[in-house]
Amino acid sequence: MANFERRVLVLDSRYEPVKVVGLHTGFVLMYTDRASAVIDSPRIIRSVSNAYTVPWILRLHNCSPRHRRCSSPRFSRQNVYLRDGFRCQYCNWAGSLVNLTMDHLIPLARGGKTSWDNIVTACKSCNLRKGSRTIEELGLRLPRLPERPQFNGTSLFALRYGLNRLNIPEPWVGYVDLSVSNRLVELKLQGRVEDLSTSANSLLLSQLPAVG
Ligand SMILES: [Zn+2]
Repeated sequence: MANFERRVLVLDSRYEPVKVVGLHTGFVLMYTDRASAVIDSPRIIRSVSNAYTVPWILRLHNCSPRHRRCSSPRFSRQNVYLRDGFRCQYCNWAGSLVNLTMDHLIPLARGGKTSWDNIVTACKSCNLRKGSRTIEELGLRLPRLPERPQFNGTSLFALRYGLNRLNIPEPWVGYVDLSVSNRLVELKLQGRVEDLSTSANSLLLSQLPAVG
């Protein structure tokens, strides 16, 4: 689990998270007047003759938030599973990842597309049972209609840095949306995702802007 105790959270001018930096970088940003402290910490960097406070959170003076908005995650197996809560949408079974599959509501052979609104998470046995039939033909009901999920920019930020309720420094709470990453932690604690880092890190990363 990542250790953020020796890190500084950097926000843009609208108080949205931009990056996580080390104490030294945080110190340079502040003392070169590129950022101001939002929350001070008791942490100190010492030179030969002086001691400098390093904050928990910095806010950049010139940083537009425009480029970091992201609400449309890439279509991928992991993101379909995440949208569906890692549960079979036909029988509600929630087991290990290796027994989950993606199923086409309208089968490929009958013109169905591989898209957010035609794909659901299904366990292997439901997938096999359904075959090339539609849910109407089988009388199956979905808990909800599948659609493209919306993840906001700060929940993606938490995923990128592996931040979650178990490791976030208390002063950062309120600045980072942990809803998606906390969900992954719960799945890990329940033993339903084998490897949190694989799930979280491969998730959505192609949608994330580079962090400078
Ligand atoms: Zn099932």
